[in-house]
Amino acid sequence: MNVLVINAGSSSLKYQLLNPETGDLLAKGLCERIGIDGKFTYKPQIAGKEKLDAVDVAMPTHNEAIKTVLDALVDPKNGVIGSMKEIDAVGHRVVHGGERFARSVVINDEVMKAIEDCNPLAPLHNPANIIGIKACQALMPGVSMVAVFDTAFHQTMPPVAYMYALPYEYYEQDKVRRYGFHGTSHKYVSQRAAAMLDTPIEKLKIISCHLGNGSSVTAVDGGKSVDTSMGFTPLAGVLMGTRSGDLDAGIIQYLMERRGYTIEEMLNILNKKSGVQGISGISSDFRDLENAFKDGIERAGLAVDMFNYGVKKLIGAYAAAMGGVDVIIFTAGVGENSASQRMAIASGLEFMGVKMDPEANKVRGKETVISAPDSKVKVLLIPTNEELMIALDTMNLVK
Ligand code: AMP
Repeated sequence: MNVLVINAGSSSLKYQLLNPETGDLLAKGLCERIGIDGKFTYKPQIAGKEKLDAVDVAMPTHNEAIKTVLDALVDPKNGVIGSMKEIDAVGHRVVHGGERFARSVVINDEVMKAIEDCNPLAPLHNPANIIGIKACQALMPGVSMVAVFDTAFHQTMPPVAYMYALPYEYYEQDKVRRYGFHGTSHKYVSQRAAAMLDTPIEKLKIISCHLGNGSSVTAVDGGKSVDTSMGFTPLAGVLMGTRSGDLDAGIIQYLMERRGYTIEEMLNILNKKSGVQGISGISSDFRDLENAFKDGIERAGLAVDMFNYGVKKLIGAYAAAMGGVDVIIFTAGVGENSASQRMAIASGLEFMGVKMDPEANKVRGKETVISAPDSKVKVLLIPTNEELMIALDTMNLVK
């Protein structure tokens, strides 16, 4: 079975064609500058097929982008399938499912309407996801489509974890609550952890640390998300590449008054100019920060230390929330690649049974147990694969 996975943004569209039964990736790529001019990247994963790297293709709308993707996949010379009939279903990443969607769903008219109803909660993302779905429906009539939500995995959180301490009517009337994001990633790595340890997920207390440009930490008890660090929006939680993470809301008014910022300017600062970028004044990229610190730039070191400290505190909080922890997972760009940051985060947690294996921790980007054999808590490096999770959910729903 082949599933086309689509992640549509307002001017870009990422795609992968995979076989969820085998986990094989057939091709992946990206359409960029949709509605501007159009750049197309195509990376077939079959030997002898040629890739395309940001070539010019006119893409006035997402329809031309999807058409370009489909043409490349079935191209007689460099395609990876014989015809469109070999695409059995399409899995769409949708950012926000609100409280309506606690799991992935087959898309129909009613589901489309419900996704549109969630637009106010993710005004930059959901409308673009909907455009991507409509473009696929137009070009692939009769093919089953599934929506996989970033928020769905966290719908199992109890009210004590998802409520904000604001007047209750803001929850009832305005839907203000913690939703959490990166759900597809946290779900995938939690399931992989259970498989790696050969233990039913129902028996595990897991803390999943998705540490990348955007970062979130999730407490997964018995396979269910019970708390997560991102909130009503992905701005909350641990500090990130350019996002502030949690901060005292009083700072917003104070800075707006002193600096004369509008609310748009203030939010732009919180989303795009804060985090490790803001602290270091150098970069949002953790590799740059490690290098800058080696060159003696103290603020680069402070930024990384603040990030690691923030993640460590969340691990402690979530162990308390679950009444213990059996597994800590590191995933995403930083979690999969930075041995020094994994070590910094896990060190000092010996009191709760975490003992790292410095040799095993030298690994990058491959499923590995990085705790010592006698560590009470297993620490795992698990590369995330949101596309495969989307393809698996899609397969399970359409079969
Ligand atoms: P992601 O958002 O998951 O793609 O992760 C992107 C982040 O991972 C960037 O900040 C990268 O600097 C970081 N990253 C990738 N490789 C490394 C590495 N070897 N050491 C530290 N950070 C890394």
